Amino acid sequence: MKNIIFLAPPAAGKGTLSEMLVEKYGYGHISTGDLLREEIKNKTEIGKQAESLMKEGKFVSDEVIIELISNRITKSDCENGYILDGFPRTLNQALKYDELLDRLGKELGVVIYINIDKEVAMKRACSRITCPKCGRIYNKYSNEMKPKKDGMCDDCNVPLTQRADDSEETFIKRFDEYVNKTMPLYDYYKNKGVLKVIEAHESKFETFNDAVKIIED
Ligand code: AMP
Repeated sequence: MKNIIFLAPPAAGKGTLSEMLVEKYGYGHISTGDLLREEIKNKTEIGKQAESLMKEGKFVSDEVIIELISNRITKSDCENGYILDGFPRTLNQALKYDELLDRLGKELGVVIYINIDKEVAMKRACSRITCPKCGRIYNKYSNEMKPKKDGMCDDCNVPLTQRADDSEETFIKRFDEYVNKTMPLYDYYKNKGVLKVIEAHESKFETFNDAVKIIED
């Protein structure tokens, strides 16, 4: 299976799409945001450093992120292919990742850019709720994505929570970080000939079908 990198602004649907593709193909799922939230929950040194940056909508240092990725992609669930959800986010991370792939003898795979309007992404972020236990993502205002029972996870039956960085104010800062630091990766991967573009449709199934076409091409 081709490894996948999702390149997209915050709240474009990387997490949801990853969940759906993991279920269909059995990919390993690597979300650097989830890895960092786990470090915060476990009150580790990395977690302490990351917490305030994330609350302010700023990026965590490239060194920390590379360390997390290096430890994660060698795990057994990534042997047959994995999805990178939220990494790389800077040109330096992309360069370091290329070096890591060379060292491990792994392939880059395909980079899928999810195109979304800033206003739509902001609305999605502000109405996103997640399960603190299994990480499943819901959306209060989407018929497709709202939980069966108001505010509760369908699978774990625990109360859903809003991410600390999903406020309107923090979203704007995260979006700015994305434009300044992540957007240059669009050209970087386009020049390598590995970039594909899909739209963030209102229906997650439509977006999923577009991604499947690319993967099975
Ligand atoms: P996400 O869950 O992907 O939206 O990420 C949440 C937050 O974690 C981001 O706003 C950053 O503060 C931090 N983060 C996640 N991935 C990275 C990365 N590759 N580089 C730097 N910071 C990151």
